[in-house]
Amino acid sequence: MSEHEVPVLIIGGGGCGLSASIFLSNLGVEHLLVERHATTSVLPKAHYLNQRTMEAFRQHGVADAINAVGAPIEKFGKVRWTTSMGGDGPLDRKIIHEMDAFGGGSLRPTYEADSPVMSGNYPQLRLEPLLREQAEARAPGQVRYNHEVTGWEQLDDGVSVAVKNHDTGEDLTIKARYVIAADGGRTIGPKVGVEMTGPTGMVDMVSTHFSCDLSEYWDDGTLINWFLNPEGADSWGSGVVVQMGPTWGKHSQEFVLHFAFSPDDEERFNEEAIIPRMKKMLKLPDIEPRVHKVSHWILERVVAQQWRYGDIFLAGDAAHRQPPTSGLGLNTGIQDAYNLTWKLAQVLAGRAGDELLDSYEAERLPVSTDGADWALLTFMNHGVIDAGIGLVAGAPVEVNKAAFQALFSDTRLGRALRARAEVAIGTQTWEFQAHDVEIGFTYEGGAVVDDGSGPVVRDDMGRVYTPSTKPGHRLPHAWLEHDGQRISTHDLVGDQGNFLLITGANGDAWTEAASAASDKTGATIKVATIGGNYHDAEGTWARLREINEDGALLVRPDNHIAFRSARAASDPAGVLTDAVSSVLGR
Ligand SMILES: Cc1cc2nc3c(=O)[nH]c(=O)nc-3n(C[C@H](O)[C@H](O)[C@H](O)COP(=O)(O)OP(=O)(O)OC[C@H]3O[C@@H](n4cnc5c(N)ncnc54)[C@H](O)[C@@H]3O)c2cc1C
Repeated sequence: MSEHEVPVLIIGGGGCGLSASIFLSNLGVEHLLVERHATTSVLPKAHYLNQRTMEAFRQHGVADAINAVGAPIEKFGKVRWTTSMGGDGPLDRKIIHEMDAFGGGSLRPTYEADSPVMSGNYPQLRLEPLLREQAEARAPGQVRYNHEVTGWEQLDDGVSVAVKNHDTGEDLTIKARYVIAADGGRTIGPKVGVEMTGPTGMVDMVSTHFSCDLSEYWDDGTLINWFLNPEGADSWGSGVVVQMGPTWGKHSQEFVLHFAFSPDDEERFNEEAIIPRMKKMLKLPDIEPRVHKVSHWILERVVAQQWRYGDIFLAGDAAHRQPPTSGLGLNTGIQDAYNLTWKLAQVLAGRAGDELLDSYEAERLPVSTDGADWALLTFMNHGVIDAGIGLVAGAPVEVNKAAFQALFSDTRLGRALRARAEVAIGTQTWEFQAHDVEIGFTYEGGAVVDDGSGPVVRDDMGRVYTPSTKPGHRLPHAWLEHDGQRISTHDLVGDQGNFLLITGANGDAWTEAASAASDKTGATIKVATIGGNYHDAEGTWARLREINEDGALLVRPDNHIAFRSARAASDPAGVLTDAVSSVLGR
C-alpha cells in the first residue's frame, strides 16, 4: 500500500477531467488525475466545441492545437435535411432545408464580432488524446490511466481515496484536500446518493461509427445531415449522419450514424441490420462502410440537485446528462471545470474562504439546468420539423409518400407546404444558432457583487447575444491595441488565476485602489486602463463597456464580471476591497 498526498484529485480522464487538469496546471495547483481505463475513450461521442469552451481553451493555451486539426468553420458550419443521397425516384435526393450553423455562413460576422475565437469541431475520440497530451505536458507523471478509484472516506480536512493501479496491481491511498468527481456519474454519484432529477430512459440512441468514401454524395460544408423520407418513421428514426474527419468536408473518411430506438425495442441490438438499413435510407445500395463500433446511449435530461459533498465536487456528466442536440453536454462539463478550478486555486493558496467553493454549485447548477432544458427542447423540436413537412410517425408509407409528393409539387398547395416547412424547420435555429445560449449565460447569486441594475433581456430564441458588463456576465470581447499588438479584452486576465481591473482614461483612483485591495486581501489584481496603456482602436469597447471613463470593472479569472462601478467612487479602495473580499468569501 502506497500513500500520497495531493491538493486536488481528479477522478476521470474524459473531456471534463482532462480540462480540469490543464486548467489546474496553468493555475499552479498540484494535482493528480486518475482514469480507470487504459486509454481515452474509443467512442466518437461529442464533437462540437462552442465559443465559450474555445475561449476557455484559448485562455489556457489549448485552442491553437485544436484548431490545427479540428474542422474549419467552412467545413462544418451548415446542417441539412434531405430525402436521400442516392436514388433516381421523384422523391430522391431532394434538399428539404439547409441551415447555417455553429457560426458558419451568414452567422460568421456575428460570431466573429462577439468572441476572439470561433467555435470548433473535433470528435471526442480525437479530442481526448489531444487533451491528454496537453495535460501530461503540463503535469508530467500526474495523469494516470489504468488507475481506478475503488473507495473513499471523507476526513476532517480532505478525502482519503483508494485507487487500484491496474498496471501493477498496487493499491494506493491518495489523501486529497479536494476531489473533482469528473467520472461521468459512474462511481461517486451513486455511492454518495446524488439525486439526479428529470426524465430518463427516453430513447436508446444507437450510434454507429464507420468509415466510407461518401465524397461523391456529401455536401462539403455540411456537418450533420438528417434524412427524412416517406419510409422513415420520423427524424431520429429515419437517421442522421455526422461528418467525423479526420479530413474535413466531403472527403471526410469517418462518419457517425445515429438511429433512435425506443428503449424497449429489441431491434435496437440487431447490429447486422444497421448497415442494410443505412444503405436503404441513403439509397446507396453499393457503398461498403467499414464499421468501427456500435454504441448505445440512453437519452436523459437529468441534473444533480447538489454538486458538493464535503470536499468532493461533481463536474461534467457526473452532474448533468442531456440529449446531444445543441451539443451542450461536453461543453457544459468543460465549463464546469473552468468555473471550479480557479476557485480551488484561490482557496488552496489561502486567499479565499470556503464560501467561494459553495459558489460553484450556486453558479453552475442554474446554468447547466438551463442547458439541459435547452437540449431537451431542441431534441423534442425535431418532432415539430416532422409535422411541419407533413411526415406522420407511424402512418402507412403511402400516406407519407402522398405528403412528400404534395410537398415537392409545383402547385399552389406545394408552395404553401414548403412555406410551412420553412417556418417549422426554421425553429431549429434553437439548436444550431444558439449563440446566446452558448455565450450569454450569467451567474447570479454566486461569487459576484450585484450592482442593482436590471436584468439583461435575453432572446427567447436563444440566438441574439446581448453583451453586458453587468456583474455575473461574461466579459464582452473587443479588440484592443497594446504595444503594437492586437489583443482581445479576454486576453487581459491571463491564465494564472489573478483578477483584472479594467478602468478608463480617468481611472487613476481605481489603479491605486487595486493596489490597496491587493494589499488587504492578498488577491493579485492586474490593471488595464483602456484609453491608457490599452487602446480601443476600433471603438468597440466604448460601445460595450457600460461604464464611464472614471468607472471600473473587476473581472474574475474566468472572464466573468465580478463587480462594476459605472463611475468614480468616493472611497474606491474601500469599495474595491469589499468587492474582492465578498467574491473571495472572506
Ligand atoms: C455512447 C455515447 C455517445 C455520445 N454522443 C454524444 C454526442 O453525439 N453529442 C454530445 O454532445 N454528447 C454525446 N455524448 C455525451 C458526451 O460524450 C458527454 O457529455 C461527455 O463525455 C462528458 O464528459 P465527462 O468528462 O464529464 O464524462 P465522461 O466522458 O463519461 O468521462 C468520465 C470518465 O471517468 C472515468 N471513471 C469513471 N469511474 C471511474 C473510477 N472509479 N475511477 C477512475 N475513473 C473513472 C470513466 O472511465 C470516464 O473515462 C455521448 C456519450 C456516450 C456515452
